[in-house]
Amino acid sequence: MLANIPEKVMHRVRWVLACGWLVLIFSLFYDPISPWLTSPDTTWSPFKLNLDSCIQVQGVCLEEQPYGLGASFFWGLIVPSGVFMLLIFGHEFWRRICPLGFMSQIFRFLGKQRQKKRVDKKTGKTHYELVKIKNNSWLGKNHLKLQLALLYVGVCGRLLFYDSHRLILGLFLLFTIGSAILVGYLYAGKTWCQYFCPMAPVQEFYGEPRGLLNSVAHEGQKTLITQSMCRRENSDGTENSACVACNSPCIDIDAERSYWDAIKKPDYKLLYYGYAG
Ligand code: SF4
Repeated sequence: MLANIPEKVMHRVRWVLACGWLVLIFSLFYDPISPWLTSPDTTWSPFKLNLDSCIQVQGVCLEEQPYGLGASFFWGLIVPSGVFMLLIFGHEFWRRICPLGFMSQIFRFLGKQRQKKRVDKKTGKTHYELVKIKNNSWLGKNHLKLQLALLYVGVCGRLLFYDSHRLILGLFLLFTIGSAILVGYLYAGKTWCQYFCPMAPVQEFYGEPRGLLNSVAHEGQKTLITQSMCRRENSDGTENSACVACNSPCIDIDAERSYWDAIKKPDYKLLYYGYAG
């Protein structure tokens, strides 16, 4: 349903969300505002601590202090909202607003992605072309296992290190953003989203074959630009496909086709039977 929202609008939405996310990350390092909201003296705040109640840890009341809300917002609001969006609006909407996917495309927007030199054997002419992951490479065959492993490390890391430790969470998020930008420089298309992002298995689990309000790519559409397919806006406001075929079949072009294509592959069985909530 939301696949038809113009790219211009979605681009602005992505900017707002990316800036909001960067502000949240900044607040994990320096936050003079939200501790004030959790202070018991800020009587009107819904986040204020209630010092009358006692939270017992091993029989002793825990001493509560005002705290920054950045990590709580991230884990308690943003992450569950992502899953909610996947279920309701489908994968196509999430992929068009994801701030991490947006940041991974920075070098594409700047026209500075890595290119490799290729000499045409017939004509002897030199060409430069974008670099793509080959289907028969190790990563092409095993990216889902890698993504599941990264998801597992991320989830365990949350429990062990950065669930409430704001500094470590901030560093972790900056490292993730840096990795996405680096992959976006090295490889064409949405290589970060397709081959590396640990959220991709979550998106496939909840968003395939389709969300409640997903558009359907293969039924009755007259447009060549479907779902969350890569696209660019022309100066006259029309849109063109910007697909460089970084993955096939591509979940951004047709999530249902991608689902039925993959359902019998061992890696996807691992995902569907091994995804434990
Ligand atoms: S639409 Fe094309 S370029 Fe974009 S992710 Fe899919 S295959 Fe890659």
